[in-house]
Parts: sequence; structure tokens; C-alpha cells
Amino acid sequence: MNKNWNNKGLTTREAKERLAEYGENTIQQAPKKSFLGYLWDALKDITILILILAAGLSSYVAYQNHPDDLTEPLVIAGIVILNIYLSIRQQKKAEKSMDELKSFNVPESKVYRDRQLVSIKSTEIVPEDLLQLELGDRVPADAVLMEATNFLVDESFLTGESEPSEKDSDYIPSEADSIGDMKNRIFSGSMVVSGRATAVVETTGMNTEIGKISSMLTEAAPALAPLQIRMQKLGKSLGLLAILAGVLAILIGFIRGYALETTLMTAISMAVAAIPEVLPVVVTISLSFGIRNMAKRNTIVRTPTAVETIGNVSIICSDKTGTITENKMSIEKIVPADQRLSEKELLLYFYLASNINGEDGNIGNPTELAIKKAAEKLFNQKKLQQHLSKMQRVHEIPFDSKRKRMTIIYQTEEGYLSVTKGAFDRLEITGDQSEWLPVHDDLASQAYRVLGVAYKKYEQLPQDLDDTSIEEELIFGGFIGIIDPARKESYHAVEIAKKAGIRPIMITGDHLLTAKKIAADVGILESGTKAMTGADLNQLSDEQLSQDIHAYRVFARTTPEDKIRIVKALQQNGETVAMTGDGVNDAPALKAADVGISMGSGTEVAKEASDMVLLDDNFATIVEAVKEGRRVYSNIRKSLYAMLGCNISALTIVLISMIVGWGAPVTAIQLLIIKVVADGIPGMSLCVEPAEKDIMSKKPIKKGTSIFANGLLKKIIEISVVFTVLTLTAIYVGHSVTVQNVAPSLLISNTMTFIVLGLTTIIHMYNCRSSQSIFRIGFLTNKLLLATTAVGTLIILLLVNLRPTAAAFGFTSLTVSHWLLVVTLSAAPLVYIETKKRLGKF
Ligand code: ADP
Ligand code: MG
Repeated sequence: MNKNWNNKGLTTREAKERLAEYGENTIQQAPKKSFLGYLWDALKDITILILILAAGLSSYVAYQNHPDDLTEPLVIAGIVILNIYLSIRQQKKAEKSMDELKSFNVPESKVYRDRQLVSIKSTEIVPEDLLQLELGDRVPADAVLMEATNFLVDESFLTGESEPSEKDSDYIPSEADSIGDMKNRIFSGSMVVSGRATAVVETTGMNTEIGKISSMLTEAAPALAPLQIRMQKLGKSLGLLAILAGVLAILIGFIRGYALETTLMTAISMAVAAIPEVLPVVVTISLSFGIRNMAKRNTIVRTPTAVETIGNVSIICSDKTGTITENKMSIEKIVPADQRLSEKELLLYFYLASNINGEDGNIGNPTELAIKKAAEKLFNQKKLQQHLSKMQRVHEIPFDSKRKRMTIIYQTEEGYLSVTKGAFDRLEITGDQSEWLPVHDDLASQAYRVLGVAYKKYEQLPQDLDDTSIEEELIFGGFIGIIDPARKESYHAVEIAKKAGIRPIMITGDHLLTAKKIAADVGILESGTKAMTGADLNQLSDEQLSQDIHAYRVFARTTPEDKIRIVKALQQNGETVAMTGDGVNDAPALKAADVGISMGSGTEVAKEASDMVLLDDNFATIVEAVKEGRRVYSNIRKSLYAMLGCNISALTIVLISMIVGWGAPVTAIQLLIIKVVADGIPGMSLCVEPAEKDIMSKKPIKKGTSIFANGLLKKIIEISVVFTVLTLTAIYVGHSVTVQNVAPSLLISNTMTFIVLGLTTIIHMYNCRSSQSIFRIGFLTNKLLLATTAVGTLIILLLVNLRPTAAAFGFTSLTVSHWLLVVTLSAAPLVYIETKKRLGKF
């Protein structure tokens, strides 16, 4: 094992061989559902039950009346099988897309491969791999520590202890050690809460401690999105409506003295008509289409629900550094506190107080990288090394976002030097601190990120290396002013967000003046709005906070814990809150927010707590995601509008026609055909519609608002009435008017009803695409809809006009006049809605 440590890890080839030998580093998932399991779940669906009932009834009627022609029961049975097949496929697809989502989210770990520190998927880790771990990482496998500084891990899930455990690479294990005692070992699933370490992997996957008790981790079935639940409910109510309509049809048939078989078959068609078979599919397709679109734009969705929720957030709480700003820091001001200290010497102090002179350098922290860059520019590399060679680093008190400072202690030729850098208001210096305040505030109000440095010399290394005793009574050295410019996209994104009724709020650990300046620059802090600090926040009770919070746009000098209070206060005001975060301590706030958004560059812990990961850390990308969320939701509403008109009008048409005495105007098979080729498949095609132009100038939709809100229900009822009137006109003509010397008949009436109901539904799809006139957006712009409606129309025309299918499905040929009437009636919904759009009443 030590060989491995010295040689800096495995080679790629060794790792590959080991992966083949030991398998992937994962904990096995619950067994997959069997075919019977899928079938059972499919049969639990009311839709399919009604169809099976319909198949049974139709077989009975056919057997009694015309046993040599079983077309109808066969077709219905076919549809039942098709539906079961679709349901099973959808279940499998949902599982697969959950798996895909999971694979998107495979956490990564840093290991040495071919002597290089690289980031790999945690599933590819093998025994003997050399791991590098730091604050915010999740331990990916069981491992033995080689080297560790200030290394604390949270392994409460194994030991039950709530306090983080301190680890020590020099610990000599004994036989009697329990898991909690093994200070030189770390276990898969623990969280690093402080420090850094190097460790060699011992066991992976099911051989780890957590693997052995994997039953503990068996995950619950993925929860359904609220939207999916709403759709299932809607499906159930429509199913009940179907049964009700069927019963009503039987009653009417009985009262009006129709033949039993006609009555039964009508009841079947009613039931068939009402069921929206494809609704759940529409939601699944729309959400996954949205997830894919977001992935293309740097947003990985971890919770499918979030696609819908993000569209309706009313507040975006965003970090400043890296999200609104570029995180490309450079030092522009160096202000020594004392005449005797040169700029060069001051910068050297900052350099010494940074975590950048270690062997591996520093991959991440931009603040320290800026210091490193400036120091290397001011000194030449050799000089810097000369300085450093005279000192030995002996201790570090790492930076944390609560203390907002950090210290490194060196052994020098004269004794010991302790250097602390951090937020000026957090430095405990000798003398009058307020003397320096004007200099500090001047820099901060120009948007500089201001850091101070202070030091203390010792002859002997102090006994107590605690931060409270080391980081006090320091001699102040001076300031640096770091500029971190706002991202250019931020300005526009803030403007769009505000137009969309969303309040952007900046939350930062940085100084109030720095934060205010940047927030004002990008448009977050406007006149009439206010800023406060974490200290101000602590003075407020929860009630006061939630009462006053609407006025605030900036929270500065906050700790991650403050974020939770902010989220809760906003939610108490009925707001839907998106919150960004990247650190370990941000996880609770990310969980508490309606949409938790983590950063691609952030810690694994934050990512795991979030609903979305922003790969580019960019505020503007959040606003893009809002737009996509709104598009998805509005397209689902469009599909509903497109499809329910057909379902509901089919019910009223059959009922009225029965009451008037025209008999059953369509057969069950005819309705099924319409619902598949004219209604269902084209209706799904609406999910690719682009966003409406004004989608980002509407207010966010409040929590708990029905999907039918804002007039959708009224629109559906209205178009159902239009469909009903048009189709009844066709039925009347077919049933009672002699046209071109052709006597009226039930067959003619059925044929006309089939065509009119089918074509009106198809034409209506184009009404649903946009609130704008279809002539403005163009008939050809949604290629998917164009294809599905063209095929649907073709199938309808062929079924009616080809002799064998016409005979099988009960159609007859129509005269030219009939056709003229049918086409006119079918075009009417387009004329009707276009007129309404023209009048601005849509
Ligand atoms: P934010 O991410 O919102 O900018 P941080 O927690 O990173 O907030 O920083 C808060 C403050 O802590 C900064 O204004 C700075 O004064 C100080 N600070 C940040 N990084 C370091 C560091 N590496 N060393 C010392 N002080 C730091
Ligand atoms: Mg930060």
C-alpha cells in the first residue's frame, strides 16, 4: 500500500484491470420489477379497466347479433392490448429516465491516475486508488488515511454520533476498535466537514461498510411530480365521468326504447370517448423534453418536478461571488497600513496567509489565486522561493465562511510567525480599528472585495493553537482590493427576471458596501429597496423578518445559516423561492427552498441537496431555466386544451343525439380511431412548441393554482360547445336531409360525424399552438405537429374512402355536396378562434 502512496496512485491500466476484477463502486439497487409487476400496475389503471369492459360488452353484442363479423370486439381488444403495451412502456421509460437522471448525477471524486490528480466518476474508483479529499467532498469508498490536516468527517450514519469525528493518519489501530474508533480510516458515504486528506482505497461497492448494510440506504420509489399527480387525478375524474355517461346512455336508451345492443354499444362508446389515455404520456414527454432542453443549456435537473416549479418562482436568491460576478479576481489595490511596510512586503504577508504554497498548489479558491498571481508578478519566482525556504509551515486554521478569516503559522529563523487574513471587520487587531474604516469603506464602496492581513510573532510555538487565542491582538498589515467584475449577462438577466415578476435577491458573505455597489450596478438594488447584513438579520425576530423582508434586495456578511431564515421568511409571505448555494453549509437552505440550485463548481454535498445543478454557475442560466419551465407548463396546458375539447364534445354529441332520437352517431371503434389519430398523437406534438414571445412578461403563477386557471376551463367548455354544434349539424343533415338524390341514413350520418369530429379536432390543434394568429406564426413551423396531423388526416380519409376499410368500420361513400359541407364544418373552429384572436378576445 505504501508503494502506491509513494508512486502517486494507480495507472489508468491498473485501474481498468481492477475495475474488471472488483466491479463498479456502487451499492446495488433494489431489484427491477418483473413483467407481471408491470402488467399488474397497468391493469390497475381505470382507463384500461373501462376498455376491457368495453371489449367484453362488444364481444357479447357481436356474438349475439353477427357472430361472423367480430371486427369491433377485435379492434377494441387490440386497443386494450395497445394500451397495456403503452402503459408498460411508459413505466419502463420512466424508470429508465430516472436511471439516466441518476447517472447524470453520479458524484465525482479526485484521485491520482498516472500520477496526475484527476476528477473521475465515483463509480470508477477501485481498491488501491489514491484519493484526495477536502471540505465538502463525500468519501466514495472505505479507505486508509496517508496524510491528513484538520480532517473532520461526519460519519453519523455509521456511528450514530452527531459530532464530526476527527481523523488522524498516524493513529495505530488496535483489535478492539469499533468503527468509530478507527481514526485512521474513513468510510464510504461520510462527509468531509473540514480539512484535507490523502487516503488509499481499501474496499469499494458492496464490500464497504455501508455496502454491507445497504438495506439501510434502499431508496424509496421516486416521487411523482405534483403535475403528474394532478394529471392522474384528472384522468380518474374523467374516467368516472365516462362511467357516469355510460350509465346515462343506458338510461336514455331504455327510456327512448332503443334496442339493447344499440344502447350497450353507445354506453361503450361514451366510456371510450371520455378517457384521456394519452394525458399522462403528455406530461412525461413534456417534462423530459424540458429536462433535455435544460441540459443543453448548462442546467442538470435532479428532481423532475423542478422543471415545473422553476417556471413559477417569484424570488431568486443568488450568491454574488461567481454567480452574479465572474469569479475571476484580480488585485487592483494594495494599501499598506504603515509607511514602513512596502506594497511588496504587504503582498508577501497575504501570500503567506494563503493556502497556495502547498505541494499541489490550489485548484479552486479564486481569492487566493488572485493573491498568488499578483505575488508572482511582483516578485520573481526565485525570490519568492527564497523567502519561503527560510520558513517552515507548522499549522493552519482554515478559512470558513462563518469566521471569514484564516491563519497560517510558520517557523522562521527568529521564532514563529502567525499570519491571519480575512474580512477587515473580522480581524482582531491592536490599536484603533476605526481609524482604518474610511480607507476600507472607500475601497468597498467602489465594488472592491477587500481583505485585510494581520500578524503576530512568537518566540515559542504557543501551546494553544485554537483560533480564539491565535487570532487576536494582531498587528494590522494593510488591505488589498480585489476586483471581481459582474458577468456581462447578469445585467440583462436581472432585467428579464424583474419583467417576469421575479425579485432577484443577492446573498453574500462579502462586505455590505461591496455587495451594495455590485447589486446596484446590475440592477438588483433599486431605489426604494434596501440592504442588510447578517448582523442586522440576527437582531430581527422571525416575525419581524417576514414582515419586512419584501423591501430587501441584498444580504451581506451572511453565514450560510442565515440563508435558511431568509428562505423561510420569504415562503411565509407565499413566495416560491429559488436559492443558490455551493458550500457544505448551504445544503439545508437548498433543501428548504422550493428550488435548490447548486453550482457545478460547488461541493458534492450541495449538489446532492439540490434540485438543479448549474454547470456554468451563471445567474443568467437560472433565468433561462425559468423560461424553459414556463414553456413546458404552458405547453402542457395547450395539450390539455387541444385534447379535452374532443373528449367532452364526444360525450355531449352522443347524449344529445340519443335524446333527439338520431341513434348512436359514432361507434366505439370510430371514436377510438379519432382519439388516437386526430386527438392523442397530434396533441402530444404541442410539447415542442417554442415559448410564446410574452412568456417572460407574465407574473409567476402562485402555488396551488389549478392547471385550468386563467380561463383554460372556460376555453375548453367553449370549444366543446362549438364542436358539438358543428357535429350535430352534420348528424342532422346525414340523418334527415336528402342530398343530391341520396336518401338520409344512419350510415351517412355516422360517416359524416366521424369525419367532422376527426377533422375539427385536427384543425383545432393549430388554434392551440399559440395565442397569436396561426397565419402569423405559420402553419408549417411545428414540423412534428405538421407530420402527425397530416398522417391523421390521411388515415381518416383513407378509412372512409377505401372499400374494405369502409365496410369494416361502417362507412359509406358521400356525395360532393356532403363533402363540401363536411369540409366547411371542419374548418369552422379555425375561423371561430381566429376571429376571437383578431378581436383580442382569446
Ligand atoms: P462570498 O462567496 O459571498 O463572496 P465568502 O464567504 O467567500 O463570500 O467571503 C466572505 C468574506 O470572507 C470576503 O469578503 C473576504 O473578506 C473573506 N474571505 C474570502 N475568502 C477568503 C480567504 N480565502 N481567506 C481569507 N479571507 C477570505
Ligand atoms: Mg464564496
